[in-house]
Amino acid sequence: MPQLLAIASYISKELVICVVCGNPANRSQRLSDSLERVVVGAAGAYEARCRKCHVAAPVAMTPASNIELLSR
Ligand SMILES: [Zn+2]
Repeated sequence: MPQLLAIASYISKELVICVVCGNPANRSQRLSDSLERVVVGAAGAYEARCRKCHVAAPVAMTPASNIELLSR
């Protein structure tokens, strides 16, 4: 992906509005305590957050397979 961004003529980023502060948001905050990696079809389980307002899941709630991916 970084190589593609480096040679692209135009880069367009789709952003939404952070529901907490109103700034541009590019992250999804999970609102449920589900440990599933993806909660499919869960309307209301996520909300848009900016980098400042996004709260990462505690390591204890992160499945071991994801911790391995994050440590790379
Ligand atoms: Zn925010």
